[in-house]
Amino acid sequence: MGQIRIIRGDTVEVINGRDKGLRGEVLRMLPKDESIIVQSIAMRKKHQKQIQTGGRTMSPGIIQFESPIHISNVMLVCPKCDTATRVAFVRKEGERKRVCKKCQAEI
Ligand SMILES: [Zn+2]
Repeated sequence: MGQIRIIRGDTVEVINGRDKGLRGEVLRMLPKDESIIVQSIAMRKKHQKQIQTGGRTMSPGIIQFESPIHISNVMLVCPKCDTATRVAFVRKEGERKRVCKKCQAEI
């Protein structure tokens, strides 16, 4: 993945494809696939049969779930200037920090 520029809990904006322009919070990282799961992005529908799990019955119907989206299709949204931005990395007190290229805020 090279430099990890997006981490769980970040807000990202989709820059490509069907959900272009939508924003959501990163729920899960899938480093092997260079993909992430983003809340309410790339929603897919699945038909759920009635199943029994530990005495509970899950009712059948259509469930919606997020499918993975490749990290090249999203950009980090800077919480300070509220724009989808590229990030720079700076070293500060031995730690690597992400900085918004637009407003220079630490993210
Ligand atoms: Zn910014």
